[in-house]
Amino acid sequence: MPARLSIPDIEWRDGVLFSRAHDDAYTSQRGARVEREHVFLRGNGFGAEGDADGGRWMHAAGTERARHVIGELGFGTGVTFLSAWAAFRAHAPADAQLDWVSVEGAPLDAATLSCAALSDPAMAPLAPLVAELARVLPAHVRGIHRRAFDGGRVRLTLLFGDVLELLTVMDFTADAWCLDGFSPARNAEMWSEEALAQVAAHTHVGSTLATYSAASAVGDRLSAFGFRVARTPGANGKREMISATMERAPDRKCIRALPKWFAVPAVASTGSAAAPDEASSRNHHAPSTAIVIGAGIAGATAARALAERGLRVTVLDAGRAASGASAAPRAVLAPHLASWQSPQTRIVAHAFLHARAVMERIGAPLDPCGMVHPVNGDDEWGYQQAIADWGWPDDMLRLVQADDATAVAGTPLCSRESPEGALLVRDAGTTRPADTVRAALAHPAITLREQVPVARLHPIAGGWRVDAEDGRTFDAQVVVIATAGIPAGALPEMPEALASDALPSVPFDATRGQLSTLSFDGAAAVPHTVVSANGFAMPPVDGAICAGATFEHERLATPATPHDDAINLGHVERLLPELAACAPARRGAWAGIRTSVHDHCPIAGPVVADGAFRQAFARLAHGPVAAQWTDAPVLPGLFATLAHGSRGTCTAFLAAELIADMACGTPRCVADDLLPALLPQRFLVRELRGGPRDRAAD
Ligand SMILES: Cc1cc2nc3c(=O)[nH]c(=O)nc-3n(C[C@H](O)[C@H](O)[C@H](O)COP(=O)(O)OP(=O)(O)OC[C@H]3O[C@@H](n4cnc5c(N)ncnc54)[C@H](O)[C@@H]3O)c2cc1C
Repeated sequence: MPARLSIPDIEWRDGVLFSRAHDDAYTSQRGARVEREHVFLRGNGFGAEGDADGGRWMHAAGTERARHVIGELGFGTGVTFLSAWAAFRAHAPADAQLDWVSVEGAPLDAATLSCAALSDPAMAPLAPLVAELARVLPAHVRGIHRRAFDGGRVRLTLLFGDVLELLTVMDFTADAWCLDGFSPARNAEMWSEEALAQVAAHTHVGSTLATYSAASAVGDRLSAFGFRVARTPGANGKREMISATMERAPDRKCIRALPKWFAVPAVASTGSAAAPDEASSRNHHAPSTAIVIGAGIAGATAARALAERGLRVTVLDAGRAASGASAAPRAVLAPHLASWQSPQTRIVAHAFLHARAVMERIGAPLDPCGMVHPVNGDDEWGYQQAIADWGWPDDMLRLVQADDATAVAGTPLCSRESPEGALLVRDAGTTRPADTVRAALAHPAITLREQVPVARLHPIAGGWRVDAEDGRTFDAQVVVIATAGIPAGALPEMPEALASDALPSVPFDATRGQLSTLSFDGAAAVPHTVVSANGFAMPPVDGAICAGATFEHERLATPATPHDDAINLGHVERLLPELAACAPARRGAWAGIRTSVHDHCPIAGPVVADGAFRQAFARLAHGPVAAQWTDAPVLPGLFATLAHGSRGTCTAFLAAELIADMACGTPRCVADDLLPALLPQRFLVRELRGGPRDRAAD
């Protein structure tokens, strides 16, 4: 499977966008919106924006909280999503939520999408929605992209790539499906038995499906997978279309199951897991209250993601918000560039793209200055391979000659360090973590309580009770631990329950680091971008450059030291020798503690009960098939976002979104093939298999 996404092969014919590859129009030539509303909205029982009856938008399985998950094959011009979004706005109650999950193999760029969507005059009233979608449309990068609108109550999860490859590793349940690929005769893959098996697997009893196609092969396949198929009049004079309803518990075997020790329930927030064949399961289990312990970037982003799903969130911090590692004056926001692919590089790349989108949406400070990463000649071949594996478009990530890198950086790069050139990362930049924390916390459903050190936490009926050191207690259905880490002895105030039962197997590691703010008198040229390779220098603010960072395991005291300033100046000398030669002066410094684990991936997900987990999987050492396994015993409603190491400004956002997905049972923003690299129990699994505890399970 090539890493790069297909570029759509398109042309305009009489004002209508056509796919040359499929010899088919993207939208009905007789009115895209009318067709989509008829087939996909009304065909699935949802009212269109102008309809008197909002249909399913107004009623959600007998509960007042309406949360809809709609799947789509073929995002195309986005007209179906846009029409549904407008209808949802018009009809759904204020606390309703919409998750739209759409697979697209060859995404259109923003300009083409806008033009195509607006080529139908009936779409003119939706022009503001088209513009909003086009503004945040993801880069042409394979994988999962999450976007949110209307304060987070409308979530769009775009799965860019091959339909089978993606749905196989996505474990979600849709209430309705829209099959909107190019016609079955011209795009067989999208309508294949395997693809429709995946659609059926991602349903529950009562899920509906609609498609403009009335082809008998499509109807027969849907019937075989358990849908009751009805043929009804089509749109724009077409004789027939298909509306279908799932009638039996779907066969989910084609979704690649995680091993039981990594299997987490669809809704991990209350006592019982949601069964995929209960139409209303998500609504019964929707939590409404949460406590987040820790107001660094991990806690603030988790609070925000939960608040945007309608929960009331209390954030407790032992000190002040952004007083731990997130107090760093500036931070680099960039993917982890390495000449090899690993779970860590994949997670950080995914997290980077996600963080950029959320930061822009919530108004977090971001200087998108780009990054130049000098590459040693010996590594060049590896980097070329890595770039090919990443599959990012050339304008986002490319290897250039040293002269070009110097031109982009705005100042000569060290020739010893980069005899061959450098990687350019267009969308990288810098941020101010404390202001990012404040931006994330600025939501009416979030209450911040500072100077509340948490001493204990214990389960109560339907949730958790959090005891503060001063005797106050706080109750909620969901608790997220975002205290950076729980290194034994280093944080004696850590909750007993955590130290004893929840995460004792995680080998946390603490590293002290220092950033130095340096000015260079009379410098002819300063960097316009971040320059980074085993140390970094950021573009100047108020005439001073932020350089870093030091790494020290032995000494964890945080006051900044001249010794570390000298190390940071050394980074500038190595990366930007001409600049470093210009009378450097120290303008300030900051030091903090990074908390990480040995595989350098953050911890994000539900916390398992250590004792019960050990008991359930005691026989793991004898091999994965040695026993009948039960699902991983999670502590319902307890989640952790920890160990963000030296990349927290990137990874915190993805961890937060994943936890909110898991707490609320919404489709996950991380595919199942990457999930085990994030889950807290990975170290425990390794230990039970007889491997060293300081490594994650494979
Ligand atoms: C020198 C240095 C440079 C860095 N540079 C970068 C960079 O360029 N890019 C990047 O992405 N990342 C960088 N990082 C890493 C980044 O700063 C961290 O990954 C991130 O801030 C971690 O956020 P956090 O919320 O997990 O932890 P923290 O910000 O440490 O927040 C944890 C919070 O939990 C609270 N807490 C702890 N115990 C309790 C309790 N019992 N009760 C209540 N509250 C409690 C603390 O008071 C604290 O506010 C750098 C870090 C350092 C030290």
